[in-house]
Amino acid sequence: MDIHEYQAKEILAKFGVTVPQGGLAYSPEQAAYRARELGGDRWIVKAQVHAGGRGKAGGVKLCNSEHEIQDATNEMFGQKLVTHQTGPEGKGIYRVYVEAAVEFDREIYLGFVLDRQSQRVMIVASSEGGMEIEEISAQRPDSIVRSTVEPAVGLQEFQAREISFALGIPSSLTQQMVRTLQGCYRAFRELDATMVEINPLVVTSDSRILALDAKMAFDGNALFRHPHVAELRDKSQEDPREARAADRGLAYIGLTGNIGCIVNGAGLAMATMDTIKLAGGEPANFLDIGGGATPERVAKAFRLVMSDENVQAILVNIFAGINRCDWVAEGVVQALKANPVDVPVIVRLAGTNVEEGQKILAKSGLPIIRANSLMEAAERAVTAWQNDRKQNTKMRAV
Ligand code: ADP
Ligand code: MG
Repeated sequence: MDIHEYQAKEILAKFGVTVPQGGLAYSPEQAAYRARELGGDRWIVKAQVHAGGRGKAGGVKLCNSEHEIQDATNEMFGQKLVTHQTGPEGKGIYRVYVEAAVEFDREIYLGFVLDRQSQRVMIVASSEGGMEIEEISAQRPDSIVRSTVEPAVGLQEFQAREISFALGIPSSLTQQMVRTLQGCYRAFRELDATMVEINPLVVTSDSRILALDAKMAFDGNALFRHPHVAELRDKSQEDPREARAADRGLAYIGLTGNIGCIVNGAGLAMATMDTIKLAGGEPANFLDIGGGATPERVAKAFRLVMSDENVQAILVNIFAGINRCDWVAEGVVQALKANPVDVPVIVRLAGTNVEEGQKILAKSGLPIIRANSLMEAAERAVTAWQNDRKQNTKMRAV
């Protein structure tokens, strides 16, 4: 789960990271009021969306008066900000953060990520902050410092000092840098984050280390342990289909193809998508309905997949291990009887009680296309989708 910059700054500040003074606003008037509260005569207005690259996309503006703040925010509110991280549809701006503008001499990149190979938290830092990490690794790979943290002892002071030296931070600021690094690491570990990124972390003209930007993402499976983090979720920043699925306990990712997928198990869902592509089709979604594919869950899954108007065929692929194919078949039949769908439905069942499952599908009287192997299911789904498309085109022609 992602959170906003101002929320990440609030969290990191509690862990000892220094951030500029700022205030949140939901309207241009409130933004101007926040500037007055902060004092000074130069402010930065920042669109709060779950994406980086806002600066280049017009989502970060320097303002020299309250009037300029009103003008800048008038343009932002209600608009969709399109950055290289949002996709072409962009993300809605409903909140802005007003910050005192800071004078700085140097920009540093600082990131904390999970390194799967070493199975540890890895610190990635560079003296070339301000650019995105992808740009830094393309243009200045030699500037990148990497360091993994031994989980049993955490980020030790000597290790943090080493990173600080490697970045060329003046020794008078080493202690501040160590506090920043250790604070980020503790926030990462204690809150089950999957990513902490400060870009840029700056050395100000008055010799302070300050986080001008902050990004955090959290492990969704650990949110139950951190209700204060879970509260920060902002559904306005999520794909509405994915948000609806998450609320129903289903793992769904919307894609751009036409063949809807209903599968139990994430690995099988990935294999199903691959096989659809191999058969010449394009999956419309990733959907893992979990182990216990009860009739209610199957029905929810059908409604969710059908809510995508691009879906022109549905492939149900269930492997019953602990589950039983006859229960799942019952679920599919009940779901389709209660909510008939107007696209071809292909069902492939395998595992426990598969014969009983097939019988239930056959006896249902529903026009379900059955398949025995995954390849066969994918081919039938692609053929059914192509036929359906031809028919629709003919109907339109008539
Ligand atoms: P993004 O990464 O989404 O583009 P940032 O928060 O990093 O957004 O802002 C973009 C740039 O704006 C930063 O690299 C920095 O140069 C400048 N900036 C951001 N906040 C401030 C601030 N409080 N004072 C001065 N400059 C800032
Ligand atoms: Mg940034």
